[in-house]
Amino acid sequence: MVLSDLGRRINAAVSDLSRAPNLDEKAFDSMIKEICAALLSADVNVKLVGNLRKSIREQVKFKDLPPNTNNNTKRRLIQQAVFDHLTHLVDPHAEPYKPKKGKSNVIMFVGLQGAGKTTTCTKLARYYQTRGFKACLVCADTFRAGAYDQLKQNATKAKIPYYGSLTETDPAVVAAAGVARFRKEKFEIIIVDTSGRHQQEADLFAEMVQVQTAIKPDQTIMVLDGTIGQAVESQSTAFKQTADFGAIIITKTDGGAAGGGAISAVAATHTPIIFLGTGEHMMDLERFEPKAFISRLLGYGDMSGLIDHIQSITRDSAAMKETQKHLAEGIFTLRDMKEQITNIMKMGPLSKVAGMIPGLGGMMGGMSDADGTEKLKRMIYIYDSMTAKELESDGKILVEQPTRMTRIAHGSGTSVREVEELLTQHKVMAGIAKNMGQNKQNMQRAQKMMQG
Ligand code: GDP
Repeated sequence: MVLSDLGRRINAAVSDLSRAPNLDEKAFDSMIKEICAALLSADVNVKLVGNLRKSIREQVKFKDLPPNTNNNTKRRLIQQAVFDHLTHLVDPHAEPYKPKKGKSNVIMFVGLQGAGKTTTCTKLARYYQTRGFKACLVCADTFRAGAYDQLKQNATKAKIPYYGSLTETDPAVVAAAGVARFRKEKFEIIIVDTSGRHQQEADLFAEMVQVQTAIKPDQTIMVLDGTIGQAVESQSTAFKQTADFGAIIITKTDGGAAGGGAISAVAATHTPIIFLGTGEHMMDLERFEPKAFISRLLGYGDMSGLIDHIQSITRDSAAMKETQKHLAEGIFTLRDMKEQITNIMKMGPLSKVAGMIPGLGGMMGGMSDADGTEKLKRMIYIYDSMTAKELESDGKILVEQPTRMTRIAHGSGTSVREVEELLTQHKVMAGIAKNMGQNKQNMQRAQKMMQG
């Protein structure tokens, strides 16, 4: 079972409840039971699952609801409680260090060999590079033959400057030399990869402390393999006793539902989880934010994650700038949606991104990447059959003119049903954009007032 299946199972339990003719305590109990069973099968700790069960019950207080409470109200209360407590389950309640522009932020990676450290170092450097930071890599793993070559290969592919040595055997010396050089060259993100294995565990820990002392990192990140589920906790505790780290990245969350167990186990230790590794490719790194994560897991979408992802590949695109400007104003035209879909198609495996778009994850649920891509292509054909005026609109002019919808379906070789589906989807997204815009405007207004 992969993580998205876990989400689907929980979502199905909530939906089953919504469909139950009698939304009574028995139905509520069986929903909670199913959610807990799903979490346990994802290796979430039994005690944490027990707490979640208790808190959902406490928040909804089914017994105390007035007998005439209608099903819609009950459903909303239950959905909200499930969402809140799942979010709580994965929330470390701690803020990580945030790299600053204009200074050299030194980030050291620690973790056991095989956890995905070297791969993740390059992913993270690329992540910052695509967001306008000057990023580079230093290989301080002098223990494993081939470690430097691996980093070099990854870095070259991602066009990221790197430093390492084939002759120096002291990792602290290599790390310090690399960091000094890149500091001088005004790099803003300097990521140092360290060794993950030694003959003796004590040697590994001693080396970590030496490197840490030599480079004084602004942030130490521990990389943990998500496929081992809640066992990550004892691993991270062992590391923490020696080389304190301020943040965690959980890798291989695409490998199975155990990633859920890993995330919740680490969250319970209150160490911030900053990213999740979601595949072997360079782009398979996702920012971790508890609410957005659960929202995506349950198929509710994650607009902020989507925007973040799109920004990384279209930083300089004029069309994207226009969309960003629109979003800030709470506007979302059909052309904006077309832009987003075109970008998504450039982003690689569709199943990854579809889940971020509200409703689209559900719409594509169970579809193969090839079928999903076909579906998006058909959406683009629909857009291509619209007039410029229609594209710049919020879609209402089309909804009000069924003949235009028929013409568009005809012109694009699709069906009226598909055109309708696209417009409905757009309406959902435009609603979210409007809220986002309003929040931003309210904040700006409040800031202005505070500044007098
Ligand atoms: P290190 O020994 O900790 O430096 O680990 P590596 O970076 O060499 O990674 C070990 C293996 O895990 C490699 O085959 C990577 O491609 C793979 N890997 C790393 N991160 C992920 C991930 O998020 N998802 C998947 N599926 N594989 C990953």
